[in-house]
Amino acid sequence: MLKQARANILEAIGNTPLVKLNRIGAGLKADIYVKCEYMNPGGSMKDRMTLNLVDQAEVRGDLQPGGTIIEATSGNTGAGLAMIAAVRGYQCVFVMPDKMSEEKIASLRAFGARVVVCPAAVEPDDPRSYYSVAKRLCDETPNSFYANQYHNPDNPGGHYLSTGPELWEQTDGEIDVFVAGMGTGGTMAGVGRYLREHKPEVRLVGVDPVGSLYYDYVKHQRLTKAFTYMVEGIGEDFLPSTFDASLLDDIVRVDDKECFLTARELVRLEGLYAGGSSGAAVAGAVKYARERDRRENIVVLLPDGAAKYLSKVFNDEWLRENGFLEQSPGLGTVGDLLRQPRTELITARADERVRDVIKTMTTHGISQLPVFDGDRLLGVVSEVALLRHLATGEYSPGATVASLVDDDYASVEPGTSIESLQKMLADTRLAMVFDGSRLTGLVTKIDLIEYLARQAV
Ligand code: PMP
Repeated sequence: MLKQARANILEAIGNTPLVKLNRIGAGLKADIYVKCEYMNPGGSMKDRMTLNLVDQAEVRGDLQPGGTIIEATSGNTGAGLAMIAAVRGYQCVFVMPDKMSEEKIASLRAFGARVVVCPAAVEPDDPRSYYSVAKRLCDETPNSFYANQYHNPDNPGGHYLSTGPELWEQTDGEIDVFVAGMGTGGTMAGVGRYLREHKPEVRLVGVDPVGSLYYDYVKHQRLTKAFTYMVEGIGEDFLPSTFDASLLDDIVRVDDKECFLTARELVRLEGLYAGGSSGAAVAGAVKYARERDRRENIVVLLPDGAAKYLSKVFNDEWLRENGFLEQSPGLGTVGDLLRQPRTELITARADERVRDVIKTMTTHGISQLPVFDGDRLLGVVSEVALLRHLATGEYSPGATVASLVDDDYASVEPGTSIESLQKMLADTRLAMVFDGSRLTGLVTKIDLIEYLARQAV
């Protein structure tokens, strides 16, 4: 064996470079560094955690020689597992949602894996969902191991053992802020826990796409409605147990357009061949740095590379078709809508009696109200919930609205495009507008209709 050679490709996982951004974020007080995880041999940071998943499964005896690894994956976890399976002689079956890029599916098949594609637009507990299909395949396949990245502690564990210590060493401990997008949340949980143990004052900042429910959960402890979005690998429509909200100091939201345009800038302005979720993380870090406006070292993790998205993020035609390349402001933003003359924002307190809330609603001619418990947004009380309450005979004059609130709303920002708002309002009855964590408005379909009608004249 040659002295400088690796025994196999798995030994080449990790030791990815940490690189300073020079043009993106120029003019900010903070320095932004990126951790180039796309340079791992399987193409992403998932190499580290899948190696840990397989190592631990072998130690426990959950994975036997010649066994089959099954996973519900959006691609990078699959690539890591498929690479490991090739080296160690396992079979692989992957179940993927249909919004994933062709390149990701093809690359898994290239490793010899079987790929089953499932509809993305169904609930996680639907038998057609990729989570359900993966579970069923596991039950049906003898000598199989379900990697279960959304609930396997060896996922964050892999980053705790590998990515965290490496970053700590590469920064000589001079890391003030760590920024990462969150899918399973494993990267943030593992790296975050390691950094926090070594430097309690380090700030851990998650990045979440508009449409995912992490943002509202972290900001308001509410599980609101999730919406589809296009950036791959980050954001969720449920809470995986690998996600640890308690570690986060802050969470920044980005929309698809910001993710994709920033990914393109990473490649064109910095020569960093990174993908869509890398764009998301950097766009989030820049927003965060702008707001903090202080001299500090921000480290951003770049999960995977541009090659997987050549037909999407790096294809002008695709970007234009989806409205991400438009120079014109389009239909405007939620902020523009809120600037038109409209009624003030009316809210209710959790301890208000049902009959008083009904009176408020009739006086102002509104059909739903945000309900607050002190500063904390509890949810929305709607005409429908009130009607149900009255009609089922549960009504008592002293009852409070606290038990009638629900989470059936979208949450948006003043900068959210009217086009995104319109998509969301097709699925839910109202959108709450947050400026940071402050609720500044509430938009219903009729507000949107009035706004669009005004634009048309
Ligand atoms: N970016 C990409 C491209 C991914 O595939 C993933 C994993 N789903 C993430 C970011 C998020 O990583 P994690 O699951 O560790 O939160």
